[in-house]
Amino acid sequence: MERPDNDEAWTLERLRDAVVPPSGLRTCSGPALHGLLAAAVEAVGPGPFGTPARSPTFLFAFAAVLEELALGSVSAPTLVEAAERLGTAGGRLSHLARLVDDATARIIRARVELAASRWVAASSVLARGWPASLPGRRVELTAAPPFPPAVVGFLAALARTASSTGRSLVVHVPLTGDASLDAALEPLLQALEAGPDLPGVELLPELFEAPLSEAVRRLAGAAPGSLPTEALRAVVAPGSRREAAALVDALRRALDEGASLDRCAFALVAPDDAADLERALEDAAIPVGRRLPVPLTTTAAGRIGILWAGLTARGAPAEELAWLLKQRLLPALRVERRLDPLPLLRRAGVRDGALGSENGSSAYQVRLAAFAARRREVGAAPDADDADRLLQAATTLLSLAERIPRRGRLADLLEAWRAGLDAAGFWTALEQEPFEADPRARRATAREAAAVEVWRAFVRDARAGWKAARSSGPEMDRAAFGRWLADAAGKLVVEAPPAVTTGVDLLPLESLDGRPLDFLGVSSLDAASFPRRAPPSLLGDEERQAIHGVLGRAALPAWVGSGDARSPLAEAVDRWRLGRALASSARVVITRRRSAGGAPADLVQRLLAVTGTQERDVSSRPIPLLAEAPGPAWARLRLALEASVAPDLRSAPPDPVAAAALDEVSGATWLEDARALASIEAERLQTGAGLRPPGAYSGLLGSDEVRAGVDARLGGSPEGPLSSTSLTALANCPFQGLSRKVLGLEPPDDGAEELDARGRGQFLHEALEHLVKRLLAQGLTGTDPATLPEDLVPTAIATAAREHARCAPTGHPRLWALAQARARSTLERLLRSGKLYPFAGLRPAAAEERFGPDLELPAALPGERPVYFRGTLDRVDRGEAGTGVLDYKSSKRRDRARAEVLVTDFQLPLYLLALRARGERPPFQAGWLSLRTLEYLPLDPDRTGPLESFLATDAATRASSTAPNLATAIHSLLTEPRQGLFPVRPRECGFCPLGSVCRVSERRAPQGGEG
Ligand code: SF4
Repeated sequence: MERPDNDEAWTLERLRDAVVPPSGLRTCSGPALHGLLAAAVEAVGPGPFGTPARSPTFLFAFAAVLEELALGSVSAPTLVEAAERLGTAGGRLSHLARLVDDATARIIRARVELAASRWVAASSVLARGWPASLPGRRVELTAAPPFPPAVVGFLAALARTASSTGRSLVVHVPLTGDASLDAALEPLLQALEAGPDLPGVELLPELFEAPLSEAVRRLAGAAPGSLPTEALRAVVAPGSRREAAALVDALRRALDEGASLDRCAFALVAPDDAADLERALEDAAIPVGRRLPVPLTTTAAGRIGILWAGLTARGAPAEELAWLLKQRLLPALRVERRLDPLPLLRRAGVRDGALGSENGSSAYQVRLAAFAARRREVGAAPDADDADRLLQAATTLLSLAERIPRRGRLADLLEAWRAGLDAAGFWTALEQEPFEADPRARRATAREAAAVEVWRAFVRDARAGWKAARSSGPEMDRAAFGRWLADAAGKLVVEAPPAVTTGVDLLPLESLDGRPLDFLGVSSLDAASFPRRAPPSLLGDEERQAIHGVLGRAALPAWVGSGDARSPLAEAVDRWRLGRALASSARVVITRRRSAGGAPADLVQRLLAVTGTQERDVSSRPIPLLAEAPGPAWARLRLALEASVAPDLRSAPPDPVAAAALDEVSGATWLEDARALASIEAERLQTGAGLRPPGAYSGLLGSDEVRAGVDARLGGSPEGPLSSTSLTALANCPFQGLSRKVLGLEPPDDGAEELDARGRGQFLHEALEHLVKRLLAQGLTGTDPATLPEDLVPTAIATAAREHARCAPTGHPRLWALAQARARSTLERLLRSGKLYPFAGLRPAAAEERFGPDLELPAALPGERPVYFRGTLDRVDRGEAGTGVLDYKSSKRRDRARAEVLVTDFQLPLYLLALRARGERPPFQAGWLSLRTLEYLPLDPDRTGPLESFLATDAATRASSTAPNLATAIHSLLTEPRQGLFPVRPRECGFCPLGSVCRVSERRAPQGGEG
């Protein structure tokens, strides 16, 4: 190993490794060690720990206990004795002793060792004299907690041997000066100060001289506000992004004031904060030096590995499968970029591989194939082709993922997992990719490549562990394997590549190396996040006490310090680390999130009190003021906001700096873009609220050429007649009319398990059409309903069901069967109750009769153009008493049609116009038959007046009367669209089929938003 010169500072670990002679044993940790420990659990049994004893989480805890035992020089027989002392409460400890005994034997047999066991070996060497491997006269080192017994013992042995052999040993001990923060150092200080004086051995307390060091030193005793300082800033932010912005802004100011970049650092308590900080630093063009490792599970490679392991056991959920099919790390499976799998799976109604599967075919096969057939039936071949391609990709993916056996030994399951990913191209995917020019993309790729390597090392080490244990691991099923792998991956991290440039360090708190800093930023310092709690141990307090009782010493301390300063070891170490970092930095910014709730961390609370520093709460300002913007992105955001926000929408006073700066950047493309977007939004809101006529972004169509094209598509001519549905859409919201009639937008299939209200209505309507046609064909319309043949309704339902399934999704077969049964019962009631014939003296004469395209509403008044219609009469009834026309309604909204005649409902009026044009026998009757209530609702004469004037199309009648008139209503409705005006002006969005995609919807300009 590398040996520092005499005068160079040593670390404890390097010193230890220099003392212990090479054992020829490899140190063993991580997945390799877990293989040995898992074999011990298999051999001894899980005992009182139960099934979780086979999980990686347990193995991590088991490995931690082994390390603690090695650091405390505690053997398995000691555990047995302690367990006996605990009596009936010692069951867990007794079983743990057996596990420890077996695991230790396996570690020895495998010719490996724990790193922790080297401390005791090093102490033994030192007890025999000064090793030749150490420098001759003087050793100087810095000691930092934690100080478990073996480390303290090693330092004590080093001190004794140095002193007895006439050498000098200098141990620097970085103190904060506050007893509660320095509690973590107590084991070392007690050990070295309690014994006799050792000539040549110096224990040098290291107290920093920095602006905050006195405040930290006197945290416990100083009066509130007695130690004011400019060096400390505390911020409360609304979220992690804003927190990062505040930290980077503070760093930028520190750099402006002369801080040296290589003496600046961010210490992170929560690794999740790193991403936002990295982004903010990049935006501010501040280079990053060392970076935080990231959890494997946050990388795409990590997620792929975990999803792959459990995919088939979870039934292959559509979201997971769709995500996997888009991954660049699975090049053999990846679908083309244009094809987005999840929306297509949703349209096809695929939830997972199980729901809707039939006769051994997965739901992917059944539903995607059915979807493709339906789309081909209606002429949508591209959709059908996409579905075919997606089915092929999904089938390949599932066949690879299913290579993981349903049940097997862990080693075999892991190998099948690895091999499946191999076939998908996972392990070598990034090797095939071209070099990325963009630095950010390059860094992301490097991170994914490192994550793939972490998986590769995991597989290699796990295999090594099982090989050493001569075991293939426990037997488990696919689901347990998926959980096992996810659990194991949860503990793996992807190390960041070494820094290639000088930059601000972004490190976990524990990795700060103790050097004095010009600037320190620490995030997430709230009471819930700091100090961090240690993961639960397999050894409880009572069991530790029993072990201490047997040994007569505190071999496994979980707590440290005394009196008020006593606290759990891990928390004490965290407090010391933060205290030391604060006390050694020239400027400090600490932040926490309002969303984290609660108060600042205890240490921070005391520091704020002593220094009288107020937290600056920016949680009501999600976008920083211009002067506080850490980089161009935030600055642009603030300037764009200042330049465009309507005065009435402001929640804070104008930013004077931004107002001044706006002149400087006027004309910048991004600012003009922002202003344009804002004015578009304002225009839409105001038009929607009727405060201004439509403009270019709120429904006014552009050039004459466009308008001519739109007019042709809008229809109303004999070649392109209008329908009542188009009129309804235009009347409800001209933008809806434009979208549906002119642009031809249709709501996508939602692939639900059950027919929605629209689908149910359509199906019932189709079935009723078949029923009436059969009645007509068999001459049964005059027959007493009670004597009609039994098979009439079932046959109509079966025919309608067959036709409906050819063109529309029908959902789950059982729910589809239920929908048919419900429709059957509705039609039976309608038929047998006689309510199918609502017009007195009239009987059905025709069903689904088409009219148009020559049904004309002539131009009669100035500015009008003839309008032509087409449509289908649901039903025409005839008799001596005249002619009736019926419209079947199935939705609740349709029940309101009566009140909406000539407002948004034009169907029955157009039916009447069609009857008149066909020369049907008057008088006419018209009404709705509700398929929900089976009630008949006649057209309201109060809303139509006499039919003669209602249906009049001549100028004289129309001009002379104020009574409701169909022609006047339709000509007036079409005036705006024919001028190219389609404003977003909804009467009601609730039933609009575009609701799920229309982002304008029913938003309104705020009161006073006219400006
Ligand atoms: S959702 Fe509302 S605003 Fe949008 S098109 Fe439909 S009715 Fe108009």
